[in-house]
Amino acid sequence: MLELYDNPSRIRVRDKFFRLYLSRDQIDEIVSGIAGRIDHDYSGKTPLFLGILNGAFIFASDLLRKLQVQSEISFVKYSSYHGMASAETVNRLIGLNEKVNGRDVIILEDIVDTGLTMAKLLEDLKEYSPTSVKIACFCFKKAAFRENFSIDYCGLEIPKLFVVGYGLDYNGAGRNFPDIYQLDETV
Ligand code: 5GP
Repeated sequence: MLELYDNPSRIRVRDKFFRLYLSRDQIDEIVSGIAGRIDHDYSGKTPLFLGILNGAFIFASDLLRKLQVQSEISFVKYSSYHGMASAETVNRLIGLNEKVNGRDVIILEDIVDTGLTMAKLLEDLKEYSPTSVKIACFCFKKAAFRENFSIDYCGLEIPKLFVVGYGLDYNGAGRNFPDIYQLDETV
């Protein structure tokens, strides 16, 4: 328990060590910035957020609680990442069950890495004819990006690091850390 609340500079998740990359205060500031921009752009509208599980659940809940605009949220689930590497194929595990037709959709993603997961969701969304689709992601690994969609609300660009915490896992563990940690390969 101490580990979570003590803001440790180094943590262990399964067989790996990670060091502090982004503190909860920095995260909070980034999420507030995204919320402010969405409030500004969607004033008078009721966007439908689509969170991508599992990673985006914490970002989504923090962001929604900071928003002033009325909104709705649903989740989709895709699998693409195995261990610390992005897979070449993306499988849809939970699909769209909301009426997205005619809605202003904002996709919420924790990290855009290669962009494959997002590209698959964007492709799937075309079937449902939303009025508009925008993308909000907490962080973006620009150097790993292989697609050509644009990100409308990007919290932070990060280098090609492997990070955990704030919803992000290493083999299923580590999502509950309030801060974000990067893989520490010096140990
Ligand atoms: P993409 O399809 O863009 O390559 O990968 C997107 C998904 O991979 C993200 O939603 C996230 O779940 C996972 N991912 C990408 N980079 C990282 C990372 O550095 N750490 C963790 N834990 N997951 C990542």
